[in-house]
Amino acid sequence: MPKTATLQLMPLTLYNTLSREKEVFIPIDKDLVSFYACGPTVYNYAHIGNLRTYIFEDIVRRALQYNGFSVRHVMNITDVGHLTDDADAGEDKVEVEAQKSGKSANDIAEFYTNAFKKDLADLNILEPVTWPKATEQINEQITLIQKLEDKGYIYQTSDGVYFDTSKFKHYGRLARLNLKGQQEGARVVRNEEKKNPTDFALWKFSPKDQKRQMEWESPWGTGFPGWHIECSAMSMKELGETIDIHAGGIDHIPVHHTNEIAQSEAATGKKFVNYWLHGEFLLIDKGRMGKSEGNLITLETLKEKGFSPLAYRYFVLQAHYRTKLNFSWEAIEAAQSALDRLCERVSELGKPIIGCAEYEQKFLDAINDDLNTPQALAVVWDMLKSDNPPAAKQQSIQKFDRVLGLGLDNVIHRPTLIPKTVQKLVSEREEARANNEWEEADRLRDKIEKAGFDVEDTAEGSKLKKQ
Ligand code: AMP
Ligand code: ZN
Repeated sequence: MPKTATLQLMPLTLYNTLSREKEVFIPIDKDLVSFYACGPTVYNYAHIGNLRTYIFEDIVRRALQYNGFSVRHVMNITDVGHLTDDADAGEDKVEVEAQKSGKSANDIAEFYTNAFKKDLADLNILEPVTWPKATEQINEQITLIQKLEDKGYIYQTSDGVYFDTSKFKHYGRLARLNLKGQQEGARVVRNEEKKNPTDFALWKFSPKDQKRQMEWESPWGTGFPGWHIECSAMSMKELGETIDIHAGGIDHIPVHHTNEIAQSEAATGKKFVNYWLHGEFLLIDKGRMGKSEGNLITLETLKEKGFSPLAYRYFVLQAHYRTKLNFSWEAIEAAQSALDRLCERVSELGKPIIGCAEYEQKFLDAINDDLNTPQALAVVWDMLKSDNPPAAKQQSIQKFDRVLGLGLDNVIHRPTLIPKTVQKLVSEREEARANNEWEEADRLRDKIEKAGFDVEDTAEGSKLKKQ
């Protein structure tokens, strides 16, 4: 039974990339929603662009739970097979990193998997119920390729086993690809042996003159799986042949998810996924954030600069997941202040009692309208400004935070909260004092006072008092 049964239940609607429409969400099994999220390729730290996508997926999960559904959330770890070039050329990203650093591929994957899990925990992202690794499900991937072979969908070239996309009737439907245009436009066919430009590798052979760290025997030769087959095999193993939701960043629409659909549906003859959800990109200086662009920012960098991971989460929630979002230092500063103010207001509300029904309805409507988090945040602030009793506001806000995940349950019993921005000013002032920069120290004191705190210098350092 949905926990929000006292409210008028506007059903959860989600924008399905497949239909390009908002659709009412109806799960296959109403008791357990199956949800697969494409996980990281663990050869480097995640950047805050990647993390935007994982925050969006966390909102999907939390919104489902808020609507009373139990969710089986699976996120894979890609530790082999993701090549430096999407067109099945190039090298394995994890192996390249291993060679560069003189470590084993396994050590690289483990190190960056742990760093990734730490980022998710810092961002208050709920842990998936399981994290299958590509290297641990090689047999499942081989079995899936064998099924495709039995049905006549594959062919072999000198460097691997490929899926023949011309044999799959609806190839490219998710991305609305113009295949004819692609064929004609592909003046440079990089791999001469491919029958169609859109064909993709299911299994790649190890180079003849070189032993890879990660390679396995297969019926076609020693090698390693392609990146796309991993997700299909792991999704089917963990969740079944047809699942409710599959999510990722928008860059996955034309290649990765398009190929997942083709090989899965060709193998099983069944629909692979009912709802395809995609999050838009985080931009920086209006361009894509990416490794090749050399403009990566990690969560660690934000923390070093004094921002809390949850301020980044707040920043992300201010935009709808299907709109581009531009990162700037001014914007993260503003998000940090807004979150600090929110925590401060919540800490002053006292203990929770019966909530504010009107705002709970508005909040549910916003979330159930294709996860409209900016609208949901607006409801939060409107409710705080309303003349409802503080304890009622507290009750509702704690409920809202089951979706927002801003850590607001931690601030209920905190008597005086010192905003991050003020903490930052205090440490800057301490540094200025240590360097005998007295004018700068006074300027910072003024700023601290303007933010509502008095600062006292004691033998143990600066002490703050709320005015
Ligand atoms: P990867 O580890 O490269 O497979 O990427 C992990 C996830 O981050 C994928 O779902 C990508 O679609 C997503 N992603 C990559 N770059 C960005 C970006 N700039 N903004 C948002 N999501 C991104
Ligand atoms: Zn995937």
